[in-house]
Amino acid sequence: MKIFKLKYHILIPLMLALAIFLISFVYIFQIFHKDYVINDVFNNIQSLHNLFTLQIESDAHLMCAALKVVSKDKEIKKALIKKDRAELFNITKSLFEELKEDFRITHFYFTGPDRINILRVNNPDKYGDITNRFTTINAEKTGKQFSGIELGTFGTFALRAVMPWYEDKKLIGFVELAEEIDSITQKFNKIFGLDIYILINKQYLDRKHWETGMKMLGREARWDRFPSVVIIDQTSKVFPDKLATNFIDKDGAPGTSNVEVTFNNRNYYSKYFPVTDAGNRLIGTMVIVRDITDLKMHHKITIAIVTAICIVLAIILFAIFYRFLGGVEKQIESENIELLRINKVVESTSDAIILADISGKAVYSNNAFLELFGYTTEELNRLGGPSILHADYKTAKEVYNSIIQGNSWKGEVKMKTRDNDLLNILLRADHISDEKGNIIDLMMLYTNITENKQCETAIIENEEMFSTITSIANDAVIMMNDNGAISYWNAAAEKILGYTSEEVLGKNLHKLLSPEKFHAAFLKGFTKFKITGKGNAIGKTLELEAVRKGGDEFPIELSLSSVKLKGKWLAVGIIRDITDRKKLEEELKKLSYLDGLTGVANRRHLDEVIEFEWKRMMRESKPVSMIMGDIDYFKAYNDTYGHQKGDDCLKKVANTLKIVVKRPADLVARYGGEEFAVLLPGIDEKGADNIADKMRSKIEALGINHSGSQNCSVVTMSFGVSTIIPATDNNTTDLIKTADYALYKAKKEGRNRVVIYGK
Ligand code: GH3
Ligand code: MG
Ligand code: MG
Repeated sequence: MKIFKLKYHILIPLMLALAIFLISFVYIFQIFHKDYVINDVFNNIQSLHNLFTLQIESDAHLMCAALKVVSKDKEIKKALIKKDRAELFNITKSLFEELKEDFRITHFYFTGPDRINILRVNNPDKYGDITNRFTTINAEKTGKQFSGIELGTFGTFALRAVMPWYEDKKLIGFVELAEEIDSITQKFNKIFGLDIYILINKQYLDRKHWETGMKMLGREARWDRFPSVVIIDQTSKVFPDKLATNFIDKDGAPGTSNVEVTFNNRNYYSKYFPVTDAGNRLIGTMVIVRDITDLKMHHKITIAIVTAICIVLAIILFAIFYRFLGGVEKQIESENIELLRINKVVESTSDAIILADISGKAVYSNNAFLELFGYTTEELNRLGGPSILHADYKTAKEVYNSIIQGNSWKGEVKMKTRDNDLLNILLRADHISDEKGNIIDLMMLYTNITENKQCETAIIENEEMFSTITSIANDAVIMMNDNGAISYWNAAAEKILGYTSEEVLGKNLHKLLSPEKFHAAFLKGFTKFKITGKGNAIGKTLELEAVRKGGDEFPIELSLSSVKLKGKWLAVGIIRDITDRKKLEEELKKLSYLDGLTGVANRRHLDEVIEFEWKRMMRESKPVSMIMGDIDYFKAYNDTYGHQKGDDCLKKVANTLKIVVKRPADLVARYGGEEFAVLLPGIDEKGADNIADKMRSKIEALGINHSGSQNCSVVTMSFGVSTIIPATDNNTTDLIKTADYALYKAKKEGRNRVVIYGK
């Protein structure tokens, strides 16, 4: 599955938007900041100019006030009227020094009513010239004080204040105070740190005078530097040429635009102000220049800091979103995987599934649906939706009504496939609700139970058949479920085991029917059987015992097999009562090792027992004794009394011998004809001798008449005894042979006696 990369889909446009926003922000900020800086510069320059103007005005007022004070001095007045230069100089010299010191006053003139200079207190050697300056002329005209800026002969610029002096309404002269403008510009340069240049139109100057004046002041005098103007005052030694370009072609008219120039790697900003003189003539331009190199650097640093902050902010935002979206992406991923799982389950299930909207129109169907009904969702909708599958319309309506009302529906229905096959379907219908509980979809799950139905029928038939067979069977048929309980019990079981099926069904089979000795073994094997259906007894026919009602144990033959039904292992046992057979077998068994005539063990049995006991005694290192007995002159007995009587005699003899031996291990056997062998395991020679003697006397004591006997009137018997401790160098043949030899000796020595081998 392709995982939806939320990060790329959101983060890229988001970061683009953020980048655009931040770049725009930085750009706008830069513009605003620049404007702010420039405005600051403008305001700074403008403020300087305003203050400069105010300073001029205030200085003019001050000078006027000073003039008024001067005009009150009678001695000065007297000297002025007398035009006494020396007197005037003496009186005003110290006053001038004070004014110069305190108020930067550089000129202090006395002029006659004819405007001819009487005294220059600041320069007493120069006098007698006529004053044609606007200030003086206007003061004369108006009869009042007059002040204003005026160009001097040498191109200097000064603020002048002139007072006409009247005596009895008669003009007696003029008093004039003035200060050089450059003192003000220097002062402002110091306070504001800005450079001030005053450029004057050449037409108001006389070149020679100007050059002389400039030389006198120690300033540069470059008359031809600019076509229409010259610099008459500057606070900085250097004036960037470029600054003059703004008015260079305009005949000295002041420029209006602001100019930014770079000079000697430094940036300057300038503003132009018109300069008018006292005669209201536009005579030049005042250029105020500010060095903005540091401001520009500061601006650049500010922008760099803002940009850096924006970048850091963008990185932080990116990191936050990256992390956050990463988490969301993981969540979506896990939900997608969950959906994928569900989808896989839905698509691989054998049950057909369909989802419909509330109008009953199919919106989704799985593979199994297509396989089962043969319709795709589109085809089904064309024909009318999932309800057309129903074989009967009533059920379809019932199902739809049930789930649309918020219920679920489950039941067996008949449905038709695309090929019109009729199917038995287990239908489970339900609704899917949103978080608010509104039904958004209907869900139908179809399980095809057609085959199950057929199987059910077959099972019922089989069960009936099975029941019929087992009911007529002679053997008990019992079934045990995986809990060990009886789940089936036929009629023969009732007969054999005594319980009715009502009494046993559901009860633990082993507790009820098997003897206690088998319980532990059963429990051991049962756990394995439940899982594998296998066990020691499964698939075998065994003979064992069962307990019938009332507690009687009886022999049975059990055939056991396992069957798996609905995923669980069951055991089926067929039980046959073998009581009669067992009895018969017992009889037959007895017959096989007993002598038919006398009822004692036959020779074959003796051969078996002797080998067994020989080995046993060898292990225990105990002796084995053998007594061989033979009836004396028995041929003669037969001859005398007949064969039948001989048989009777043999029986009596055998019984008598049997009575003498008491231990279970002792065995009396008919060795052949009228010869008997007695095996005595663990009995030594002496003991065997005693027993043989007892036998001999008891036979004699029977008193069976034997007229044909040559040594006695009654039946007697001769015995040979042998005792051997079994070892590796001897065997049973040795025992029989030696006993036989002893018997031979007993016969030879006269019969009716016991002879011990080797004695
Ligand atoms: P001895 O004292 O030396 O043993 O002499 P005997 O006659 O007993 O010995 P012999 O071996 O010559 O004869 C044994 C006889 O036992 C021969 C046979 O007729 C008889 N006999 C063997 N088996 C049976 C039997 O089952 N029934 C009868 N009635 N007689 C038998
Ligand atoms: Mg004999
Ligand atoms: Mg014999």
